[in-house]
Amino acid sequence: MSKHQYAMVMDLNKCLGCQTCTIACKKLWTDRDGTGYMYWNNVETRPGLGYPRQWDRIGGGWKDGLLQPSPLPTMDDYGHAWEYNYEQRLYEGKKQPVMPSPEPESGVNWDEDVGSMNEDENYFFYLPRICNHCTHPACLEACPRKAIYKRDEDGIVVIDQERCQGYRYCIKACPYKKIYFNEVTGKSEKCIFCYPRLEKGQVNACAAQCPGRLRFVGILDDPESPVHKLVLVHKIALPLFPEKGTQPNVFYVPPFNPPKRDNYGKSIQEDPRVPLDYLIYLFGPEVKDVIVRLEAELKKTQEGGRSEALQLLIGRDAETRYRVRPQLVQIQL
Ligand code: SF4
Ligand code: SF4
Repeated sequence: MSKHQYAMVMDLNKCLGCQTCTIACKKLWTDRDGTGYMYWNNVETRPGLGYPRQWDRIGGGWKDGLLQPSPLPTMDDYGHAWEYNYEQRLYEGKKQPVMPSPEPESGVNWDEDVGSMNEDENYFFYLPRICNHCTHPACLEACPRKAIYKRDEDGIVVIDQERCQGYRYCIKACPYKKIYFNEVTGKSEKCIFCYPRLEKGQVNACAAQCPGRLRFVGILDDPESPVHKLVLVHKIALPLFPEKGTQPNVFYVPPFNPPKRDNYGKSIQEDPRVPLDYLIYLFGPEVKDVIVRLEAELKKTQEGGRSEALQLLIGRDAETRYRVRPQLVQIQL
């Protein structure tokens, strides 16, 4: 158990699917040889196959105190990193259209906006994903080299690149498939929760760049932090697939869209846009209580009252959304 734990809350009602976070992370951390296919932060459309394909169905995590390793995803599942023929098109004057190579068949955002594929009842929403910096990380337990560790001062899970031998047991064990193998270095790599930025008092790049302002960052055990308030006080944010047993520290405010309307403009109260069963699949049965709480907060404001929880979720300024304490980590170094 770490002394403190950094956490992130993402409000799924505000995600635009613009991938600004993905690119911010990509340019900062995975712009090197061997990292072409890696997206430490990705935003996938749900329902959908995700990245890597079917990651939520192949296994990993814990069951009855035992690790549940899954098969390794293949490069086809991630989608090969493709390049474009810019050289030929722009500099050699060849008149081919700009084309990717190899021809893509899957990718990090491959099924964008496809959604439920049900013509009459189609729905979708965006799900941004990073490593959850779990409290009980399956990746860490699975590593025979003890190359993965949780930083005592802030709970961030990192891989010691000197110790890692590229065995990939961590990838099999992580139920979120948030560790990637670098074939050039022969080591595994993952999201580092931007700890070099946090240590300087700057928030994670994905959060800083997000135009939807849906990410909240802070220390879970700090009563003043927005993540503490959203997760532990207002209880309106939940981890993804809690039954996988890793105790994730990335939490989501579930989509609580208004009901659909029929052809005559009547509200279809019993028929929510995103089926409850699907939200239960993602966030567990507690999601029902969260939606009830969110609706109660909404009602409060509609009746002229003030909702602290919704004011926080609006998150107008960085001071509201982030509480990054550089002094905390510096003291411990
Ligand atoms: S999400 Fe996966 S890689 Fe990240 S700490 Fe949890 S088990 Fe490890
Ligand atoms: S930058 Fe923000 S709004 Fe855009 S995809 Fe990422 S999380 Fe969603």
